[in-house]
This record gives sequence, C-alpha cells and structure tokens, in this order.
Amino acid sequence: MAFASLALLLHGACATSRALASNRRRLCFHARVRTGPNRRGAARSTRTCATSRSVSVAALPSASDPTWMGVECVRQRDRFLSCLQKKEQHSGDAVPIEAVLPAQWAAWTARQSQAVQQWIRELGIVPKETPQTILIPDFGRHANSGQGAARMLQKVAFVLGTAVEAASPDDPWIGNAELWWSFGALPRTLPSGMYTVSQCEFANPDQIALAWTLGAYTFTAFQRTSKHAAATENTDVSPAQDGPQQAAVLLVQDGDVFEKVVQTGKACFLGRDLINTPAQNMGPEAVEKAVRELAAEYEGARVSSIVGDDLLEENYPQIHAVGRSALGFSGRSPRLIRLEWGMDQNKDAPLVAIVGKCITFDTGGLQIKPAASMRLMKKDMGGAAAAVALTEMILATKLKMRVILLLPAADNAVGPDAYRPGDVLTARNGLTTEIEHTDAEGRLVLADALVAACEHVKPALLIDFATLTGAQRVAMGSEIGSVFCSDPTLLDQLEKQSRIQGDYMWPLPMYTPYKGMLSSTIATMKNCATGGLAGAITAALYLKAFVRPDVPWMHLDINGFNNTARHGRPEGGEVMGARAIFHFIEEVVVRHPKSS
Ligand SMILES: [Zn+2]
Repeated sequence: MAFASLALLLHGACATSRALASNRRRLCFHARVRTGPNRRGAARSTRTCATSRSVSVAALPSASDPTWMGVECVRQRDRFLSCLQKKEQHSGDAVPIEAVLPAQWAAWTARQSQAVQQWIRELGIVPKETPQTILIPDFGRHANSGQGAARMLQKVAFVLGTAVEAASPDDPWIGNAELWWSFGALPRTLPSGMYTVSQCEFANPDQIALAWTLGAYTFTAFQRTSKHAAATENTDVSPAQDGPQQAAVLLVQDGDVFEKVVQTGKACFLGRDLINTPAQNMGPEAVEKAVRELAAEYEGARVSSIVGDDLLEENYPQIHAVGRSALGFSGRSPRLIRLEWGMDQNKDAPLVAIVGKCITFDTGGLQIKPAASMRLMKKDMGGAAAAVALTEMILATKLKMRVILLLPAADNAVGPDAYRPGDVLTARNGLTTEIEHTDAEGRLVLADALVAACEHVKPALLIDFATLTGAQRVAMGSEIGSVFCSDPTLLDQLEKQSRIQGDYMWPLPMYTPYKGMLSSTIATMKNCATGGLAGAITAALYLKAFVRPDVPWMHLDINGFNNTARHGRPEGGEVMGARAIFHFIEEVVVRHPKSS
C-alpha cells in the first residue's frame, strides 16, 4: 500500500466508542467518561476524545470509518494541480493552442499552410455548436522534443462553439465568462503533453489557467476497476492510486498567475472533495478533521469545537436540537467548528466572519423527504464547503484581515430523539422558534452560529453560505446562487465580481413585509412559512433576526452542486460563490475598507 507508512497527525479529533470498536487501524485514542449533569440528563454521558498525537496508519481505513476522509481530502486535492506548470520550469517543445471563434474560422483557415488547409478540407471540419478541439498533425516531420502523445502535433485549433459565442462578448450580465470557461474542456480531452495558449483575444491568461485547472478535477476516491479490486487485499474503499487520467499540462508564463491559480484550485478542490465524499464518510467529525488539517497548513490558524451535549452547556441549543437524533452515533455528534486566523498577525485589520451551513446529511427529519429529494442530500454541507474554500483562499493569499469561520455541523436524522413539528426551540439569543417543518433545519443551526459570529467583536462583514432552500433553485436554477444583502453598494460590488469571476450570484430582495408569513401564536416566529411562496426570502428573513443590526451581512443561498457538467465545472460538488466572495472581500474589505 502506497500510504502504508504515512504518519498522520490527528489534532484533538473526537470519536465515539462505536468508531473505536470499528476501527481496525492502529489509531490510539483514550476514553473519558463524563459524569457531570447536563440539561438533557445523564443519558448521553459517554464521550471519547483523542488528543493531539502522531499515529501511524498500517492500511487505509474502511469506507465506514468516519475518521479518515478529511485527511485524505486535504492530501488528494494536490494531484490535479499537476495540470499546470510554470513555463520557466519546462524545457522542450509545447504545443500551441490557438483559440478561434466560429466567426473567425474561415479567416483562420486561410492563414494556415497549404497542407493544413487541405487536411481541414478533406476532413470536412466545420464549426459546431459546442467547442471542438482539432488536433493538427506535424505533417512530414518527426516528432518534436515535447512530451507524451502531443509531441506528434503541430498545433491545436480550439474552436469555441457557436452556442458559447452567442453568449458573449456583449452579454449584459455574464460578459465573456462562458468564453473563458470553455478552456475548462481541454485538460480532459487533449492528449498527454505540454501546451501553451498562443492566441486568444477574449480571455486573460489567468482566466484560461483557472478554467483549465478547475476542469482537470475529477473525484476518484471511490472509483474501482477490476484491476484495482484484484490488487487490493481487502474490500476497503481507499483513494485511487492512479491520479487523474489526463496529463495535458498547461504551461503558464506569468509566475503570479501560476501562484494565484494554484491557490484557488487547491481551495476549490478541497471544497468539491468535501461535498462529493459520501455522507457515510463525511459526518460532522470528518468535517472537523478536514478543517483541522487545513489549519495545520497555515500559520496563525486555530481550530476549536464544541461537541455533543457541550453545545447545551455552551448555549448553542438549536444546533444541538437539530443534531441530537444522531448524537452518539459514530462520528456524527453535532458540533460547532470554529477556525480563527489573523488574530495575532493582523490585530488591527478588518474582521470577516464566515458561516457555512453544515448539515452533513439531510433526511428532512421526522417530516422526511421523498426519495428523489433526498438523493443528493450529502451536498447539504455545500455551504460549509464553500465557506472552507473561501477561508483557504484568504489564508493562502495572506490577506490583511482577520477571519472567523463558523460551521454549525449536524446530521438531520430520523430517530427517537429527533425534534418534532410543533416543538419550540430557544436560540442562542433567546428568541423562540416554533417548528413548522423539520426539513427547515439549516436556518436553525445557522441562527446560533450567526449570533456567535457577532459576539465580542463587531465584524466588518458577516457572510453566510447555505444550501438553504428549494425555492432558491426554483427561482434561479442550479447554476446561479442568490445573495441577500440590505446594502445596495455591497450588492453592486458582489455582482461585479460574480460576472468577472464567472461565479454567478444574483440578488433577491430582503422584503421585510413577508416576515408576517413566519408569525407564530406561541413563539417569536416559526421556522418556515406555510403556503410555499417566497421560501428563499422568508428563510433570509428568519436568519436576519439573529444578525446584529449594525453588522454588514450577506446571505448566500446556493445549490452547492453542478447538476450537469459544464466546462471547468464537472458534475458534482461545487463551491458556489466562494471565488466571487473572495475577490469581493479583496476589493471591498481589504483594499477599500471604508466603503464597507
Ligand atoms: Zn432540510
């Protein structure tokens, strides 16, 4: 096993006794029995915790072991970055890619040699609706000094589709974003080898490199062929060893562009991995582990968590209520995960608080979802994944600011302890909520976290990411996120970055008269409106009750998943909004802090 001798450092991760019993590896934990009283009685008094220590892993853990995936997520994501290299580090030929709009095809063809023109004619190549990669052989010459199959090529004509061309460059909203996203189709379609983009008037080198990098991603951790199975001694589901299938490498001239794209790619890959990992491996404990592993990579990052019944003692009652039906199950006790960064080195810099909804699986609770609606609910921690990706972008670029990341993590499970319709919960700030529907759980855990985010120090900006409502998807579809913010200047800035970054966010109104739809006769409010209208707006209005009024706040309701593959955005988990918000923060909070 390739990973057999790797030493992993576990930082204060918690595991239940069930995890211990099922763990066949040499992981050393110690058990601590809590005997003190708690508000729910003594029924849940046994917890185990691991202290920070080095452990050796004899073999890869099994798929049902909740303790491993965070570690593997952090490590595996680097593999895809091999699709990008600095030009200065590579000697030998690289194949030029010439990007051509369909309208330019005739003129481009006329500029080619007689041999190329004849070849194109004989093959009958004409521009199509979708982008085409046309591999032009090196006629009559021996292979060049490049690498891989690409050494037989003279050049690549990348003809963007007529459908893509129609979306730009004059589109009033997305501009040229879908044009440069097209380059995301290349790393997984070109033969192995080295490439440069030599001609492109409608995409910058950073946009091309970003699309290429994000398009190289696949989630391979659970893929198996019969070859794998034969080579594996047991039935463990372990990360695939082969690496990405593609080895088409883009050479990047500019060192700064290279560094920035690698940082962005790493952050996005981690977020995608967190979402794509099945819920069996990505419970609240595994999310915490991933956050701790991430923090270990960045100086000045500190992580803490409040787990299980301690949530009651520390006054996070709504996170506890949602997660209590899974309390005590292996790796699935609810928790509030907190990461802080910049508190020492950037003491006087603006503070940004980032909150991410982290429902690691959402059954809908006792008012259970129908099968089709539950199928993708491993993605209900997509808000947390986007928040983690954003946090890593900030830490990697060392923005002059302070960060608090809060992830209220819980399974919304069905069980005898599950909270019920008609129950009344009390949030951290004392407001009471009558449960109209147990599937509106995300806002309940977010409420406690939003209160905590504004305590002690006033943030310059508070952002929450959440896969919060089906109503948002009905309004926007799966590809566009919604943003709620009562400051029109901030909304304008975010919309601008959304367009530039091709990370689409569109405003919805925080229309306060709809607050009446949440009114309750026995509590401060209900957790959702009856009647099914304006669900995204009433969810935002519910959250507003837990945000300090003088704190600038943005609420992002996102899908967190590419329902279908698009160039640069493979089907599966997606950190929607993270890149747009990162550049927004860079511009508004760090460069021009007064405007925030
Ligand atoms: Zn739900």
